[in-house]
Amino acid sequence: MSSTELSAKLFSDACAVIPGGVNSPVRAFTSVGGTPRFLVKGEGYRLTDVDGNTYVDLVCSWGPMILGHAHPAVVEAVTAAAAHGLSFGAPTPTESELAGEIINRVAPVERVRLVNSGTEATMSAIRLARGFTGRPKIIKFSGCYHGHSDALLADAGSGVATLGLPSSPGVTGAAAADTIVLPYNDVAAVEAAFAELGSEIAAVISEASPGNMGTVPPLPGYNEALRRITAEYGALLILDEVMTGFRVSRSGWYGVDPVDADLFTFGKVMSGGLPAAAFGGRAEVMERLAPLGPVYQAGTLSGNPVAMAAGLATLRNADDAVYARLDANADRLDALFTEALSKASVPHTVQRAGNMLSVFFTDAPVTDFASARATETWRFPAFFHALLDAGIYPPCSAYETWFVSAALDDAAFEQIAEALPAAARAAANAKGPDA
Ligand SMILES: *Cc1c(COP(=O)(O)O)cnc(C)c1O
Repeated sequence: MSSTELSAKLFSDACAVIPGGVNSPVRAFTSVGGTPRFLVKGEGYRLTDVDGNTYVDLVCSWGPMILGHAHPAVVEAVTAAAAHGLSFGAPTPTESELAGEIINRVAPVERVRLVNSGTEATMSAIRLARGFTGRPKIIKFSGCYHGHSDALLADAGSGVATLGLPSSPGVTGAAAADTIVLPYNDVAAVEAAFAELGSEIAAVISEASPGNMGTVPPLPGYNEALRRITAEYGALLILDEVMTGFRVSRSGWYGVDPVDADLFTFGKVMSGGLPAAAFGGRAEVMERLAPLGPVYQAGTLSGNPVAMAAGLATLRNADDAVYARLDANADRLDALFTEALSKASVPHTVQRAGNMLSVFFTDAPVTDFASARATETWRFPAFFHALLDAGIYPPCSAYETWFVSAALDDAAFEQIAEALPAAARAAANAKGPDA
């Protein structure tokens, strides 16, 4: 067991000035217990905490760091941009370069607007869809997380799932009333909702391949069915690629399952690790945004030159070799999970969406939030802590996806392979709720 003395002290100090000591709830380790590690350095796949412990990173800042931490080309681009001034609140050349890079990779996207977070991207896409169609209602799916804007918090994944919150106080009935929440992967439910309320529905928003209730890919033809039904009723389809975009392929989930949504949202990888995100789609829809159209959307720091430099350097270095390495690394991790958990006779299903993966403690496939919640999530804290103690940094919730980087090498996988058997035994010996 490594010392966590300094992390514990910093966490207790943080709790005196920041609610729960964290600026995003899942970081508090609430569902796994123990002391959140205060990190001071990332280099390639290796993280270092304030006590000097090192970890093989399988979180990658919840997705963005596909190249690994402090990639030299990204650091150089960011340093050069910073030396020329941090923010102007005026157009800068690199914004169009990043927008162009996104348009170039995702065929249905003709125009892009840059924002500061995935939350802003989805919130703005919803406003635009309502403005474009003149309709109030949206459909989202249970277990899909689209950030923390009011309309999209209902029955969400990520930290909302981790903490078991049905939704959130502070979201008014009026804001929630226009959000219809349906089970994921259930085309009949979508058809029934449109049959009843079709003329009032502005948009369906879905994670292109959900990763915030664990990795739960769409069943074959599911996104295509959403496209068909929305088109039939004159509603827009918004595919949220904040997590999958530029991670699972150079064109994101669109590169795996090419469904022409009206709007796409992006974040995480395209930010390079700085606060940046985007939404984009057909010119006809996007040009309803101010200043061309009446739908207002803005941001003091939007298109920030340092964030643009990080995003551009990341995408320009994310070539075919990087995507091949990400896929190979996910295959290796998948095989190691499967071997260790099988040997320890722990019921498990490793689910994949390209190089995103998660471990569910169940023998059955997980296709929606109800089946994710029915898994033996009580095994997760023991599995998590055994790995953490062995210098592996896993996501701190059973409902989160595991993220590989292209920086993982043989030494990293040897360390993971050494740690997994004991972690699998810990999962096997974990006490269930009835024990
Ligand atoms: C992370 C995420 C968001 C929210 O992005 P933030 O930058 O955290 O606001 C939205 N949608 C999906 C699918 C995500 O994974």
